[in-house]
Amino acid sequence: MHKINILCKTSNKKLDSAEKNGTGISCGIDSFYTIKTHTNDEECPEAMKVNCLTFFNVGSHGDKGGEKARSLYMKRKENSEKFAKEFEYDFLEMDSNISDIIKLNYPMTHTYRNCAAVLAMQKYFSTYYYSSGYSIYDFKIAKESSAYYDTFIFSALSNENVTFYSTGVTKTRMEKTISVAEYAPSYKFLNICTRQFENCGICEKCIRTQLSLDAVGKLNEYKDVFNVDNYYNNRNKYYKKLLKEIHKGNIYYKEIYKYMKEHKIRIPIMIHILSFIPNKEDVKHFGKKFLQKVSSEKQYEDIIKKVHQG
Ligand SMILES: [Zn+2]
Repeated sequence: MHKINILCKTSNKKLDSAEKNGTGISCGIDSFYTIKTHTNDEECPEAMKVNCLTFFNVGSHGDKGGEKARSLYMKRKENSEKFAKEFEYDFLEMDSNISDIIKLNYPMTHTYRNCAAVLAMQKYFSTYYYSSGYSIYDFKIAKESSAYYDTFIFSALSNENVTFYSTGVTKTRMEKTISVAEYAPSYKFLNICTRQFENCGICEKCIRTQLSLDAVGKLNEYKDVFNVDNYYNNRNKYYKKLLKEIHKGNIYYKEIYKYMKEHKIRIPIMIHILSFIPNKEDVKHFGKKFLQKVSSEKQYEDIIKKVHQG
């Protein structure tokens, strides 16, 4: 909310450009949805089709940078580059030390960081599609993630060389999952784990993605990237997690459950009952919520810091 003055020479001269249409390739649901819908003839005019995929190290591999984040970036990059090669897209990567320097939470700032990387290479692009993380129906101006509102900032980030567009913003994550599940190139490349390079199958995002692919009846197609037997053996446990997340108000799980109900996929009544018994995670979650309600932002941050310090 401060007034910013920039003193510098300005120019609106368009640079000589390779005029590529780019998008990021994390190999997750959102990026595959953008690639699928911006490469097929029914949905996208020829001149607007994606022909260049990008992969950046600007925070998604570890908020605060460092060697661990860089090593994860290198491994994930290999998967994305392999996809680009196999399906004949140009591939551009950028390894940056921005996270090591600014040391900020990534979700809060991810749109700005990724767009900055594109703008640093603006001679290469005319269009850049930014895959939305949340649907427009969940719009809010919230500190925790720029994905809630970034649809409305792309015109300010665009310039005479590159125009940013938000993609998939009218779709929910579940709708995108249904679409991607029909996109065969995703079957052996889907990579969504937040813990490690290969999908661990048991972290929050792995469980959620498997639940949604299972609901649409396509999980078996992803047997190369998920341990599907382990999922089926633990399905009731994951259903319980789904219900618990809904009690907490989690948007993504609500979408999955809505789809399951519409398609008459039933969760055993016993699992419904068990989902109301609080576990350690629930106590932590609701404890945090309570603290947020009764204390100021500063007090809350101090308490959390102290808890982390033991
Ligand atoms: Zn995982």
